[in-house]
Amino acid sequence: MPVSFAKAALANRYDVIIIGSGLGGLTSANRLAYCGYKVLLLEYHTQLGGLATWFKRKGHIFDVSLHGFPYGMVKTCKKYWNKEIMNSIVQLKNIVFDNPQFHLETTFDRLDFTEKLNKQFKIPESTINAFFSRVAGMNFYDDQSMTTRELFEEFFPGRSDVHRLLMEPISYANGSTLNDPAITYGIVFSNFMNKGVFTFEGGTDKLIGMMTDELEKNGVTICTSAKVDRIVVDNGVVRGVEVQGKLIECGSVVSNSGITNTIYNLAGIDSFSDDFMAKADKIRVNNSSCQVYMGIKKEEKIDDIGDLLFTSTAEEFDSSELCDFTTKSKTFSVYYPKTRPGHDRYTIVASMNSNFEDWNSLSEETYAIEKQNLIDRALIDLDRYLPGAKDKMDWIEAATPKTFNRYTLHTQGTSFGTKFEGLDISRNIFKEVSGLFHVGSVGIIMSGWLGAINYGVIVSNDVDAYMRTIT
Ligand SMILES: Cc1cc2nc3c(=O)[nH]c(=O)nc-3n(C[C@H](O)[C@H](O)[C@H](O)COP(=O)(O)OP(=O)(O)OC[C@H]3O[C@@H](n4cnc5c(N)ncnc54)[C@H](O)[C@@H]3O)c2cc1C
Repeated sequence: MPVSFAKAALANRYDVIIIGSGLGGLTSANRLAYCGYKVLLLEYHTQLGGLATWFKRKGHIFDVSLHGFPYGMVKTCKKYWNKEIMNSIVQLKNIVFDNPQFHLETTFDRLDFTEKLNKQFKIPESTINAFFSRVAGMNFYDDQSMTTRELFEEFFPGRSDVHRLLMEPISYANGSTLNDPAITYGIVFSNFMNKGVFTFEGGTDKLIGMMTDELEKNGVTICTSAKVDRIVVDNGVVRGVEVQGKLIECGSVVSNSGITNTIYNLAGIDSFSDDFMAKADKIRVNNSSCQVYMGIKKEEKIDDIGDLLFTSTAEEFDSSELCDFTTKSKTFSVYYPKTRPGHDRYTIVASMNSNFEDWNSLSEETYAIEKQNLIDRALIDLDRYLPGAKDKMDWIEAATPKTFNRYTLHTQGTSFGTKFEGLDISRNIFKEVSGLFHVGSVGIIMSGWLGAINYGVIVSNDVDAYMRTIT
């Protein structure tokens, strides 16, 4: 069982210390322990999972970031976690789009999108196939000068309805915009188009519980309420970490704290060269989120209105409108009892992209008022699909970018790490400080559940290679 730092009997030294238990940190910890390293996992919060989290209210269990991930999770979980985890991954079959430009229901895969683009949007099949081939062929080493907007204009000029269909879900999935490099869109979109959208049956709490069991089986020491205050670096080499004034030594540190936190707050800028810092100073963090969590009374039922609803009353799609303080766009994730077998409740989560400063700049009093306005807007929008649903609810609560910042410490409460430039910094940090590695949402691509887990595997391989050079 994870123990709180105050109660833990820890060794003075570990092979590897992991800072943070997001999906990337958990996966690195698991892989390295599996390979035989003595691993300590330190998590600031009382609960493991990072943004892959949940909370309980009045008999409800609310999932925060379990809205959908690509099929790639099946293979990744089987290979790097275990078959039981893999077996709980199930498809969400009814994805709904509803906005002034179109209404459609889809399984969100290449076959169905091809049909919709052809029959409903009247795009020739040859153009659709050429577009799919282009995005499927994208990889990390491509030229990154083309933006997603330019990609769309090349294939679907002037078709803002098509741009909306293709872009809106990906903006919610990784915070990317039409102005980001097309690769940040193409890789994630192709992942989803492979077979559709999937979820974890049983909820985030079940997944993190199963991952915790696996970590313990592999011998990871896990501490919660363990905020790392400093990564201790001696002459360009990692020596250990400091928690509540205590130094714990190690051969390697894997930081799953945000890359900006890792550089500026944990290792400190003096640990890095001027050249590296010049690049680090240019990192832009991605947007944050607002959410409204709604719990339906035990005795009540609601109709099946789809698993994931991309809704908007904005006339046209616009990346910046999605982040507006009073955005007209949101997704509703509907969790039916089948989502959590044995837990006979319905919950609905409204998610919106959002900017930290819009909320952080408010006075305490205005913040409370605006949170209520956020809830009211979500209820009005939901009423279009589930008339009278409000009367069936016995819990409504909202989270803002400040909430995400408070629980994860992420700079500006970012939901999806950094823009593309963060990837290079994250991948090269070990060249600046021997033994220091970073795992976590960077470069838009390495974000989301699948991106974070896959990045955890990549980084654990780097750590293993490094540890072999020092032992
Ligand atoms: C509202 C929302 C909805 C989302 N929906 C989806 C979705 O539907 N599908 C999907 O695939 N992805 C979704 N995501 C994104 C996904 O949840 C994240 O990309 C992924 O979980 C991030 O994993 P990570 O490894 O980067 O670490 P994070 O989850 O960011 O965790 C980092 C951890 O490090 C800890 N930490 C930080 N600093 C310290 C310190 N100094 N000491 C100790 N611990 C520290 C934090 O407490 C945290 O636990 C969503 C995100 C949000 C916010």
